Amino acid sequence: MKTCQDTAELLSDYLENQLPKEDADLLKSHISDCPACEAFIKSFRVASETTRKVLLRQIPQDFNHRLTSFLRERTKQG
Ligand SMILES: [Zn+2]
Repeated sequence: MKTCQDTAELLSDYLENQLPKEDADLLKSHISDCPACEAFIKSFRVASETTRKVLLRQIPQDFNHRLTSFLRERTKQG
């Protein structure tokens, strides 16, 4: 079972196909259940390779920041 935090940490490896299959599968199943991660990854998939390489270096902070606000909003409502 992966969390959003795991996804953020493993995302660059995942997109570069550097993750072991087991991790990649767990990540994929998290992504298919998590709209936040799915949307985020989609936006990286459409980026050009050059853009992606630049963006990948910035992921952890930005991704965590976005997820934190996303989850905070959700918690408020629940
Ligand atoms: Zn997630």
